[in-house]
Amino acid sequence: MHENYDVIIVGGGPVGLWLSCELRLAGLDVVVLERRTQRINQSRALTIHGRTLEILSLRGIEDRFLAVGKPVMAGHYAVLETRLDFNIFDSRFPYTLFIPQETTEALIEDFALELGVEIVRGATVERLTQEEDGVSVHGRTTEPFAFRGRYVIGSDGARSVVRSEAGIDFVGHPATGIWFMGDVVLGSPPEAGLLSAFNENGCILMAPLGDGVHHRIVINEANDRGMTRDDPVTLEELRTATKVIAGSDFGAHQPLWLTRFDNETRLASQYRKDRVFLAGDAAHIHLPAGGQGMNVGIQDAMNLGWKLAAVIKGEAPEELLDTYEAERRPVGVYLHDTTMAQTCLITAFSPHGRALRGVFNDMLRVPAFNAYFANQVSGFGVRYPEALPGFGIPASPLVGNRIRDIHLELAGGTRTTLFDLLAKGKWLDLTINGSAAVSRPNWLLPASVIVASGTPLEHPDTLAGIGALLVRPDGYVAQTARPRQPEKWRL
Ligand SMILES: Cc1cc2nc3c(=O)[nH]c(=O)nc-3n(C[C@H](O)[C@H](O)[C@H](O)COP(=O)(O)OP(=O)(O)OC[C@H]3O[C@@H](n4cnc5c(N)ncnc54)[C@H](O)[C@@H]3O)c2cc1C
Repeated sequence: MHENYDVIIVGGGPVGLWLSCELRLAGLDVVVLERRTQRINQSRALTIHGRTLEILSLRGIEDRFLAVGKPVMAGHYAVLETRLDFNIFDSRFPYTLFIPQETTEALIEDFALELGVEIVRGATVERLTQEEDGVSVHGRTTEPFAFRGRYVIGSDGARSVVRSEAGIDFVGHPATGIWFMGDVVLGSPPEAGLLSAFNENGCILMAPLGDGVHHRIVINEANDRGMTRDDPVTLEELRTATKVIAGSDFGAHQPLWLTRFDNETRLASQYRKDRVFLAGDAAHIHLPAGGQGMNVGIQDAMNLGWKLAAVIKGEAPEELLDTYEAERRPVGVYLHDTTMAQTCLITAFSPHGRALRGVFNDMLRVPAFNAYFANQVSGFGVRYPEALPGFGIPASPLVGNRIRDIHLELAGGTRTTLFDLLAKGKWLDLTINGSAAVSRPNWLLPASVIVASGTPLEHPDTLAGIGALLVRPDGYVAQTARPRQPEKWRL
């Protein structure tokens, strides 16, 4: 452990840990300061959505998660009975993976340690001071410490000290309701993967935890019993409410975790202040509806990591860093608004509210509407349409979109996949059938780019009409070129 780092990450939850992997992959000197002395043992985020699985796959570690999670083909919007169909996605992961957050965090932390990230546990950050060329971070382990980083990332969750020390507002709405939940063993579990009930008594959602043993039961009662977030939940309370709303308590016993949570909804007014960045819950909190918070946070991390690494290494202009907020804060705004919209539907217990839910249930039977909401919840719908600095006008509608994984045969006959070519966290300049060249910005150094020429072995539609493409390290298409005309057609 030393005192000067390229980047100091405050908070070793899933978001901070993923950021540390991205920065270390680029060779930076990075430390994670984490208040907890031990890894978490709470299941909190149950879902890893398909787009997040693609992110894990872009770094070659998706199998570690697939080996222990349970794929579920459907999701929900506002606990509506008409499920979201995730099977529609053009991806190797057209589903959501049920896996407890403690497992997700442990797997990401293992990857970070393999890459050589330094993680300091029991380190509580208390104060920051920004200087022209760096940031000093003060706090305490068993003793006071002071570290200096060229940049600091606050991934220290909802009550972020980094956010308040940087003077960034957390704007939004206080909680309007309290939910409670339990991870329990069910004596007689429901047959379907997801079970929900909604009536004048309340709303319930039940799902397998992914560990093959437990189910999660989440409850919102129609009648406010005056509970506060800090009141402990009892198994009896969970069983009684389950029976009242769903008609059975499904033999719930052996609780692993019982807790309450609320729908406080806030968004950071800025994702960057000088040399300080925010990511994950430090930047956005909301009702955990549709299983989005951790997923969006990991995607924040994936967006920021390669940009910050490139600027620190002098391989990209400083203005690239502004595109983090430009690309990710709109996703946060959307998350803020759509989770509030879901809250409205989830608490619509009146006859009028239930009629509105009926309309939404019908609407979701229309494939186009279903796809709209499925794209929203899963993260597949995110696009970055604005050109990065130095890039010209987008040459095709593919620019700004994520690219799916595709098996390729390279010019020399080697077989690989598009995601494998991106696994080192570099850009990919891929020529299709040797037919064109894509234009790169002047600042993009050859050392930052994997150059390949190949033929797609599957999914011909994805790259139809494309002669070459430049893919960012986070898997979004930055530019394309049309195929060159065959020689005989040239003027
Ligand atoms: C009941 C429930 C269910 C959920 N379900 C889902 C789901 O299915 N899918 C989903 O995507 N999301 C879900 N979420 C949300 C998800 O848990 C969060 O979005 C996710 O944990 C955010 O990750 P993070 O790394 O940004 O923050 P956190 O997980 O909060 O991690 C922040 C870390 O920073 C550390 N820290 C805080 N302050 C300091 C300090 N001063 N110094 C040093 N360290 C500090 C903390 O100890 C912590 O480890 C759920 C949340 C709840 C409560």
